[in-house]
Amino acid sequence: MTVTRLIFLGPPGAGKGTQAKQLSTFCHVPHISTGDILRAAVAEGTELGKKAQFYMDAGELVPDDLILDLIRERLSAADAASGWILDGFPRNVEQAAFLDTILDTMGQPYDCVVNLDVPDEVIVARLALRGQQEGRSDDAEAVIRNRLEVYRQRTEPLIEFYRNRQQLVSVDGNQPIETVTAELKKIVQI
Ligand code: AMP
Repeated sequence: MTVTRLIFLGPPGAGKGTQAKQLSTFCHVPHISTGDILRAAVAEGTELGKKAQFYMDAGELVPDDLILDLIRERLSAADAASGWILDGFPRNVEQAAFLDTILDTMGQPYDCVVNLDVPDEVIVARLALRGQQEGRSDDAEAVIRNRLEVYRQRTEPLIEFYRNRQQLVSVDGNQPIETVTAELKKIVQI
């Protein structure tokens, strides 16, 4: 059996997006990234994009009222019926509680939560490089520091939240990409 509902946790720059894409192909389920959805909304200049951009540029979390309906709709879409890989959601305890409620209502519990563990100094270096390569405005150094701070305060508590439910697996994200992918593939093939 393969795991089909998986939540990725980890600091910005841990490699969640890269690994989630790989696993999404491997498990034949969509990769759902709230960051990607928000960046697309900003690029298209939608109402959501206009509201979200201010927070994204500052490295802050976009307010929950902009995110919760969006994720509920995305998880209800036809292609998500047989599973998904969530990347960048939940980002705080309120979002995690909301996710529990909607998955409960849908009768679709998550199978596993993976925490990609990477030391701070590695993250800052990786994000600065990504900022240069991809031109992401939120990968400027001051914003990187703020995103890490926001991660520590708002998102890191989710590690305990999920550990207490015994559904958390930690993977060392400070290894070559292929090594991390190989470890993740083992985890999803339970
Ligand atoms: P990411 O690509 O996941 O690092 O997200 C980029 C930015 O989008 C974050 O720094 C936040 O400003 C915003 N964002 C993405 N996902 C969420 C979320 N679940 N809740 C609030 N803000 C989010």
